[in-house]
Amino acid sequence: MSASNNAGFNTRAVHAGQAFEPVTGAVVPPLHFSSTYAQDGIGNLRSGYEYGRGGNPTRDALQEQLAALEGGTAAFSFGSGLAAEDSLIRALARPGDHIVLGNDAYGGTYRLINRVLGDWGIGNTPVDMSDLDAVAAAVAANKTRMVWVETPSNPMMKITDIEALAVLAHDAGALLVVDNTFASPYLQTPLALGADVVVHSTTKYIGGHSDVVGGAIVVKDDELAEKIGFIQFAVGAVSGPMDAFLTTRGLKTLGVRMDRHSENGQAVAEWLLQRPEVEAVLYPGLPDHPGHELAAKQMKKFGGMVSVQFKGGEAAARTVAESTSVFTLAESLGGIESLMNYPSEMTHASVKGTELAVPVNLLRLSCGIEEVEDLIADLEQAFAKIG
Ligand SMILES: *Cc1c(COP(=O)(O)O)cnc(C)c1O
Repeated sequence: MSASNNAGFNTRAVHAGQAFEPVTGAVVPPLHFSSTYAQDGIGNLRSGYEYGRGGNPTRDALQEQLAALEGGTAAFSFGSGLAAEDSLIRALARPGDHIVLGNDAYGGTYRLINRVLGDWGIGNTPVDMSDLDAVAAAVAANKTRMVWVETPSNPMMKITDIEALAVLAHDAGALLVVDNTFASPYLQTPLALGADVVVHSTTKYIGGHSDVVGGAIVVKDDELAEKIGFIQFAVGAVSGPMDAFLTTRGLKTLGVRMDRHSENGQAVAEWLLQRPEVEAVLYPGLPDHPGHELAAKQMKKFGGMVSVQFKGGEAAARTVAESTSVFTLAESLGGIESLMNYPSEMTHASVKGTELAVPVNLLRLSCGIEEVEDLIADLEQAFAKIG
């Protein structure tokens, strides 16, 4: 079956782009590794495929699935999240253009925009995206081409009103780009809220098993799609067939995984809130989180990412980070296994000393799909080691 775009989320996840193979009936579409395609006469292609950088059926299957889940008309798959972001900016911005981005944007995004694309004439202003007046002022101060937001943000878990931000960006003639990596399309669909572009590190929840690096762009506008498609082809930072296949396989179970990640995230956040060692728990599912109501409005659930700050400062955070065994101390997030990250020295080391620097008493937890009792017991024994 092929899923229509108004089928439910999990139906689209399982079926969009995944029609069985017509010759053998193989239920899982076969992987196509071929780099090139036979032509029946010059330029006479059997089904539009010519050369692997320009098009590959396994990558197309993933792109169709991604577009169906984000509610877009076109999706583009890349070798990493940052490759997707780089191609997006090359496609849509020119020297002299400006990007207004969150002041707690993913460190690698800021490094790309500031240190790589800055040298090619793209300016940037980091701003607190949850403060819409500050965003409006930053947008008006320059020739702003893009407003770039992560919500929930990484690792401060701030929530931004996507609908309001889209209006603000469009009033200024700018595009709204949402990095939807943390929420995934199961929890939040920014295109439906007015965003122009969704970007993903599919390495995280979409792949979901910590075994493949990838990125994606999804849009709903044909003109943007054409520009991005040209850059994908002309620059060539595409995902390979095996990576596309693994990402597709992960994406089929995104909904059931996100339900469990969200359940575990909520339980871990509530447990952390009771602990005397804890200064603050940053999780939008907690009623006193400043973005709770907004998150409840624009997200289906609150996800598996929880940040926590310790009264005992850097020492306490480091002790817990190095004392867990179910939570693995590692970069990245969004896999079925729980991960623990000390952003200041790990994921966000590249923004240390800048205005995007992360508090040194903060740990970021990616709650996996294990039994929540085991996650909490693991944290409990690690907390006991705080001096
Ligand atoms: C990991 C991540 C990226 C970068 O993606 P890569 O696949 O590592 O290149 C971008 N944005 C967010 C929010 C991320 O977590």
